[in-house]
Amino acid sequence: MSVTAKPRRINVRTPEVMPLVQAQVETHYRSSIVERIRSSGGTLTVGNITLKLARQFGFCYGVERAIDLAYAARKVFAGRNLYLLGEIIHNPEVNRQLREMDIRVLHSRPSDEEIAALTADDVVIVPAFGAETAVMERIAASGCATVDTTCGDVMSVWRRVRKYVSAGRTSIIHGKASHEETRATASRALGESGGGIYLVILTLADCDAVCEYIRHGGDCAAFLERFRGGFSDNFDPDLHLQRIGVANQTTMLKGETEEIQRRLQQAVRDRDGGDTGGFAAFDTICGATQERQDALFEMLKSPMDLMLVVGGYNSSNTTHLVEIAGEQLPTFFIRDAKCLTALEQIVHFDLSQREERASYTDKLAGSGPVTIGITAGASCPNNLIEETILRLFALRGISSDQVMAAVG
Ligand code: SF4
Repeated sequence: MSVTAKPRRINVRTPEVMPLVQAQVETHYRSSIVERIRSSGGTLTVGNITLKLARQFGFCYGVERAIDLAYAARKVFAGRNLYLLGEIIHNPEVNRQLREMDIRVLHSRPSDEEIAALTADDVVIVPAFGAETAVMERIAASGCATVDTTCGDVMSVWRRVRKYVSAGRTSIIHGKASHEETRATASRALGESGGGIYLVILTLADCDAVCEYIRHGGDCAAFLERFRGGFSDNFDPDLHLQRIGVANQTTMLKGETEEIQRRLQQAVRDRDGGDTGGFAAFDTICGATQERQDALFEMLKSPMDLMLVVGGYNSSNTTHLVEIAGEQLPTFFIRDAKCLTALEQIVHFDLSQREERASYTDKLAGSGPVTIGITAGASCPNNLIEETILRLFALRGISSDQVMAAVG
């Protein structure tokens, strides 16, 4: 049995530090334009452009807390080496600001050289998605302190999968196997002994492959090949799909997670003659993700010409907003205002091709009236939304002064 080394955790959110942190965070990420549009109902019309903001978008409570902690750590540990495990959240602007504050970046799975270079005086910030238990143990063994920004909603998923381990269930994790949060959750699904079992599935097609195996068995080698990189070392589908428990990355599409639960439960019921004791599930989509998805569904009930979704291209919750909107109207996944290069060209991330490309939309070009919706993932700061809004108007010849005058 492995003895888990506990990192030396330090609380940095002291009453002396937090007012300074809040002032700095506001300077970096606040937008008075966004706040004013929101407080006046979320719609702004200037000239022949109407802009609609989703009722909920942008920073969630978990991201705000992670940023607060990182900024506070910089103040509390002024002059000391401060490191970040990978990215604090999936937004390039926020990570850039941290690097500017002399917070150095380690790989999310640090190399032996990176760990060996840590000293007891150093401090490592753990990102909002959490980190794998093996990484936490290596950091603890190095003797340095940690500031842990793991979101409480992520930790509640960890509690769930640990219960699955105690109950002898295999954790079926709906998520992306390479995503930091899912890797961290999968490591908790191994349990204290390291003997727990997990399988990560991403799509409904993955789910159907698991359901087929539950009902009828199949080609074990082909099954393992399909899910390569997404299961624990000891996983054997012939043994370990008897008792399963479903959990999910907190930022998945809620409807898809529910469908996965339904299909897996049905498969277990079919196999076990109506008995569902071999199945357990718990909805671990976080409240912030759900609110942003619900707000977008609500927004899409009103007519719009096109949708802009702003955020980091590797952000899971932002990606799902793009998928939802893309079902209904032309939708562009942009990193920031610089992606709006001209009326005739939007640089955006193409989810199907997994690459950035430039597209033309006649909705924006020309001079006719246009209604544009904007939303953003939980890791996108308001200053990036503001820049996007001002850029949109500027492309149609409307100055920031005119926009400011319109928002009052
Ligand atoms: S998206 Fe959800 S789980 Fe992730 S940091 Fe925000 S509140 Fe936490």
